Amino acid sequence: MDFELSADLKKIQEETRAFVNREIRPLVPEIEKKKKYPIEIVRRMARQGIYRLLIPKEYGGAYETVKALPICVAREELGRGHNFAGASIATQGLGSYPLVLAGSPEIRERFLPKVAAGEIIPSFALTEPEAGSDVGSLRTTAIREGDSYRINGTKCFASNAGIAQYIILFAKTDPSLGTKGISAIVVEAGTPGFKVTKQMEILAVDVVNELQFTDCLVSCQNLLGEEGKGFIIAMQTLDLLRCSVGAHAVGIAQEAFDLALAYAKKRVQFGKPIAQHQAIQMKLANMAVEISCGRLLVYQGALAKDNEQPDVTLKSSMAKYYCTEMAQRVVDQAVQIHGGYGVLMDDFPMERLYREVRAPRIYEGTSEIQQIIIANQFVREKKK
Ligand SMILES: Cc1cc2nc3c(=O)[nH]c(=O)nc-3n(C[C@H](O)[C@H](O)[C@H](O)COP(=O)(O)OP(=O)(O)OC[C@H]3O[C@@H](n4cnc5c(N)ncnc54)[C@H](O)[C@@H]3O)c2cc1C
Repeated sequence: MDFELSADLKKIQEETRAFVNREIRPLVPEIEKKKKYPIEIVRRMARQGIYRLLIPKEYGGAYETVKALPICVAREELGRGHNFAGASIATQGLGSYPLVLAGSPEIRERFLPKVAAGEIIPSFALTEPEAGSDVGSLRTTAIREGDSYRINGTKCFASNAGIAQYIILFAKTDPSLGTKGISAIVVEAGTPGFKVTKQMEILAVDVVNELQFTDCLVSCQNLLGEEGKGFIIAMQTLDLLRCSVGAHAVGIAQEAFDLALAYAKKRVQFGKPIAQHQAIQMKLANMAVEISCGRLLVYQGALAKDNEQPDVTLKSSMAKYYCTEMAQRVVDQAVQIHGGYGVLMDDFPMERLYREVRAPRIYEGTSEIQQIIIANQFVREKKK
């Protein structure tokens, strides 16, 4: 078994790290001050070709088929630089992978090359005020009328929806069914009856919106795949991207570790750098071990997806669950190592990491939902 990344993946890692250092880090102070949609990050990521990792070669992407491992390798580096950069590769994927999976040739041709080039920002609207973890209970309806769907309902927490050119809407085409009644439909910005009603304020710089659909008519040609396949499309999209949330968390943890180590080496208390006090060394040791475990789980989950292994859902949930919880612990210890400076809101980056590390434990399925998915794989297995 080879634990080394291939030459191709190392190149992605090194180039993304250099890109983050050169083009993302200098933007961070301004982004944190303004707390506006950081469009400049999107522009720079597009120029760097990062979104091409999400799209098949046929439509301007990097590989013949979309692969999870390159996305994870890049996302770890992006997550180290700034939350929005790490999140941006995922939201671009959440809004494009459903088209890769189930879009008509016309829809793919129309949108995917522009997503690859970063000229289009899509959004993925699954969550509702009354339906978060329990996706099957979503209430938005898309009822067929001739050649159109009439859409009514409310969505929330849809990343990038305020600026998106199109959203992947998950709505019930048959409200009498649970998850089997859900369909995925492309709704373009500006369609009458579709409104972005609110920008929701989030702890870290993340842009999520509330959406309202009122008698919004959308052509049936915008349906992805068949009616009733929306839940499967959503879950397959999450299988691709869930372990990249783990990679993002590993990036945050690695950044926190690097900062804590550097600080511990230079901060002198009781006559020597605190890095030479054993209590601090134990913290650093635990942080380093946990980060390595997390990274290996991410690679395992991503390879399961890329090699089409049947246990991809289990492995990507394990990666997401462990890494996001681990990053919270690591960032907390890094703050502790910084003492009072860890919670300073001036130039010290720890408080930003402390805010950034929180949401990944919630989005794309909370930690509790990941635990249920993981446990069910074993419980169901035993029943056979
Ligand atoms: C920054 C951010 C970005 C997001 N981006 C998107 C996006 O682009 N598109 C989108 O559709 N959504 C998005 N979301 C929404 C996100 O996916 C949901 O918040 C998440 O799935 C949880 O749903 P909820 O908030 O309704 O919590 P709930 O489902 O109400 O859960 C509340 C609590 O109950 C727990 N819980 C629920 N059910 C169970 C159970 N059966 N057993 C044990 N515990 C349970 C949960 O784990 C949680 O702790 C985003 C959220 C955030 C914070």
